[in-house]
Amino acid sequence: MALKFRLRGLAETFIDSVTCPGCGRVGSDDDDFATEETRVTFNGIVVVVTCPSCSEVFVPKSQRLGIVNLNALREAVIQDSYDTGEPILHDLRAVEELVEKSNADRKGDIH
Ligand SMILES: [Zn+2]
Repeated sequence: MALKFRLRGLAETFIDSVTCPGCGRVGSDDDDFATEETRVTFNGIVVVVTCPSCSEVFVPKSQRLGIVNLNALREAVIQDSYDTGEPILHDLRAVEELVEKSNADRKGDIH
Protein backbone atom coordinates (compact mmCIF):
# COMPACT_ATOMS: atom_id res chain seq x y z
CA MET A 1 0.00 0.00 0.00
CA ALA A 2 1.22 3.47 -0.86
CA LEU A 3 0.58 6.83 0.71
CA LYS A 4 -1.73 9.01 -1.34
CA PHE A 5 -2.40 12.70 -0.97
CA ARG A 6 -5.14 14.37 -2.97
CA LEU A 7 -6.37 17.91 -3.25
CA ARG A 8 -9.82 18.14 -4.80
CA GLY A 9 -9.19 18.15 -8.56
CA LEU A 10 -5.96 20.14 -8.19
CA ALA A 11 -3.07 17.79 -7.51
CA GLU A 12 -2.10 14.40 -6.11
CA THR A 13 1.07 12.90 -4.73
CA PHE A 14 2.02 9.26 -4.22
CA ILE A 15 4.70 7.76 -2.02
CA ASP A 16 5.50 4.05 -2.10
CA SER A 17 7.29 3.98 1.22
CA VAL A 18 8.88 6.37 3.68
CA THR A 19 12.08 5.85 5.64
CA CYS A 20 12.89 8.16 8.53
CA PRO A 21 16.44 9.59 8.21
CA GLY A 22 16.54 10.01 11.98
CA CYS A 23 15.76 6.52 13.31
CA GLY A 24 15.23 4.35 10.21
CA ARG A 25 11.53 3.74 10.80
CA VAL A 26 9.91 2.51 7.59
CA GLY A 27 6.28 3.01 6.66
CA SER A 28 4.05 2.62 3.65
CA ASP A 29 0.72 3.51 5.19
CA ASP A 30 -1.02 6.74 6.22
CA ASP A 31 -1.05 5.52 9.81
CA ASP A 32 2.72 5.01 10.04
CA PHE A 33 3.69 8.68 9.99
CA ALA A 34 2.08 12.05 10.71
CA THR A 35 1.77 14.33 7.68
CA GLU A 36 0.22 17.53 9.06
CA GLU A 37 3.16 19.60 7.83
CA THR A 38 2.44 18.75 4.17
CA ARG A 39 2.55 21.84 1.92
CA VAL A 40 0.97 22.72 -1.41
CA THR A 41 3.27 24.33 -3.97
CA PHE A 42 3.07 25.42 -7.61
CA ASN A 43 4.66 22.04 -8.44
CA GLY A 44 2.08 20.01 -6.53
CA ILE A 45 1.59 18.61 -3.06
CA VAL A 46 4.91 18.26 -1.24
CA VAL A 47 4.45 15.75 1.55
CA VAL A 48 6.22 16.60 4.80
CA VAL A 49 6.44 13.73 7.26
CA THR A 50 6.79 13.83 11.03
CA CYS A 51 8.22 10.64 12.53
CA PRO A 52 6.18 9.43 15.54
CA SER A 53 9.22 7.60 16.95
CA CYS A 54 11.91 10.30 16.98
CA SER A 55 9.86 13.39 15.89
CA GLU A 56 12.22 14.08 12.97
CA VAL A 57 10.51 16.21 10.31
CA PHE A 58 11.54 15.46 6.71
CA VAL A 59 10.57 15.58 3.04
CA PRO A 60 10.61 12.06 1.53
CA LYS A 61 12.70 11.90 -1.66
CA SER A 62 10.62 9.16 -3.27
CA GLN A 63 7.39 11.13 -3.64
CA ARG A 64 5.82 11.51 -7.05
CA LEU A 65 4.04 14.81 -7.57
CA GLY A 66 1.17 14.96 -10.02
CA ILE A 67 -0.79 18.03 -11.07
CA VAL A 68 -4.42 17.65 -12.13
CA ASN A 69 -5.19 21.29 -12.97
CA LEU A 70 -2.20 23.62 -13.14
CA ASN A 71 -4.10 26.93 -13.27
CA ALA A 72 -6.49 25.98 -10.48
CA LEU A 73 -3.55 24.75 -8.40
CA ARG A 74 -1.67 28.05 -8.82
CA GLU A 75 -4.80 29.98 -7.82
CA ALA A 76 -5.30 27.78 -4.76
CA VAL A 77 -1.66 28.24 -3.68
CA ILE A 78 -1.91 32.02 -4.05
CA GLN A 79 -5.28 32.11 -2.24
CA ASP A 80 -3.93 29.95 0.57
CA SER A 81 -0.95 32.26 0.97
CA TYR A 82 -3.38 35.18 1.20
CA ASP A 83 -5.53 33.42 3.79
CA THR A 84 -2.74 32.14 5.99
CA GLY A 85 -0.17 34.92 5.54
CA GLU A 86 2.44 32.24 4.82
CA PRO A 87 4.85 32.78 1.91
CA ILE A 88 4.13 31.06 -1.40
CA LEU A 89 6.20 27.91 -1.87
CA HIS A 90 7.22 27.24 -5.45
CA ASP A 91 8.54 23.70 -5.38
CA LEU A 92 9.87 20.78 -3.36
CA ARG A 93 13.20 22.51 -2.80
CA ALA A 94 11.46 25.48 -1.15
CA VAL A 95 9.64 23.12 1.21
CA GLU A 96 12.89 21.31 2.02
CA GLU A 97 14.48 24.62 2.98
CA LEU A 98 11.51 25.43 5.21
CA VAL A 99 11.75 22.04 6.93
CA GLU A 100 15.52 22.35 7.39
CA LYS A 101 15.02 25.74 8.98
CA SER A 102 12.27 24.53 11.33
CA ASN A 103 14.40 21.49 12.26
CA ALA A 104 17.30 23.81 13.09
CA ASP A 105 14.99 26.05 15.14
CA ARG A 106 13.53 23.08 16.97
CA LYS A 107 16.92 21.63 17.83
CA GLY A 108 18.15 25.11 18.80
CA ASP A 109 15.39 25.26 21.41
CA ILE A 110 16.92 22.43 23.41
CA HIS A 111 19.28 23.92 25.93
ZN1 LIG B 1 12.33 8.62 13.19
